[in-house]
Amino acid sequence: MLIDSHNRKHTYLRISLTERCNLRCTYCMPEEGIQLRDRAEFMTQEETLELAKKFVALGVTKIRLTGGEPLIKKNFRELLQQLSKLPVEISITTNGILLDLYFDDLEKAGVKSLNISLDSLIEEKVNRISRRNYFERIQTNIHEALRRNFEVKLNCVLMKGENDDELIDFIELTREKKISIRFIEFMPFDGNQWNWSKTVSYKTILDRVTNNYGESFIEKAIEGANSTSRNFRIKNFTGDFGIISSVTNPFCDTCNRIRLTADGKLKNCLFSGDETDLLKALRNGDDVTSLIQKSIAGKHKERAGLKEFDDAGFTFENRSMIRIGG
Ligand code: SAM
Ligand code: SF4
Repeated sequence: MLIDSHNRKHTYLRISLTERCNLRCTYCMPEEGIQLRDRAEFMTQEETLELAKKFVALGVTKIRLTGGEPLIKKNFRELLQQLSKLPVEISITTNGILLDLYFDDLEKAGVKSLNISLDSLIEEKVNRISRRNYFERIQTNIHEALRRNFEVKLNCVLMKGENDDELIDFIELTREKKISIRFIEFMPFDGNQWNWSKTVSYKTILDRVTNNYGESFIEKAIEGANSTSRNFRIKNFTGDFGIISSVTNPFCDTCNRIRLTADGKLKNCLFSGDETDLLKALRNGDDVTSLIQKSIAGKHKERAGLKEFDDAGFTFENRSMIRIGG
């Protein structure tokens, strides 16, 4: 069991399959791109599976595949199939562009829920934020995912002056559709030009929803024990919405997450600059299990020990989000 010194049991592993992506979202990918590295620096399919098995042996019960964009990984289909044989729940976070190629495989692998990133309902805005033109394909795939009865969560990073005017439009999607919207506070990572003025806070989001619908129409919605989002529903609406407030109100006390980057580094917190090189250990024949245990045992109580985000930007060392996986 992976229990840290704050008595948190770690059962949820997020594996980034690649640092590459078919989008260039402004909040995630640095403007100058990221340096491409030799393939040998990344986990092979076999190494990914081998490391996943070690985590499962240590009590992990849920694996989320992320990236970069996980669906551009060449051997995604085979890896998914192999991972699905492990006794874990598998889910995926994707920008949705390539979902049409993989719906059948995801169903076969027993994947029930899809997190799809969508930051605007307006084509021109999606294209501007993602610096690419895939709006229609993403829309079609979201509809198909719903038609196939996947549980769909739409991840929306709210940024002031960019897409925060669409807050209510997103919630209106939940009136008729069985869909969950997850508003994510814009977070600081390497190269994404974050500052406080762009972050739309948990409180602002909830205030605006309250102003629009009235307090008595906002109900609490179901949350998993380790959920990082606070979830709500507008009375009589079919779907729900949640807020992930890692900046203004982090929910570290119930954190059960571990991250494995595409180059095989274990991050015990999204904001942690410290990493443990599991891939190197695996290749050297070292004891990977004890390295995992040591990293989790040493996990900070809150946000990798950071006190507050600095108003001028962020002053801690970390990767860009595209190289972590969210
Ligand atoms: N490419 C996939 C996608 O976009 O869903 C998976 C990887 S992406 C890094 C995972 C999640 O991180 C996405 O939902 C994205 O919106 C979110 N994300 C990226 N950068 C972020 C930031 N600076 N602040 C908050 N969320 C961010
Ligand atoms: Fe790619 Fe996802 Fe990052 Fe956008 S958020 S650049 S889709 S990895």
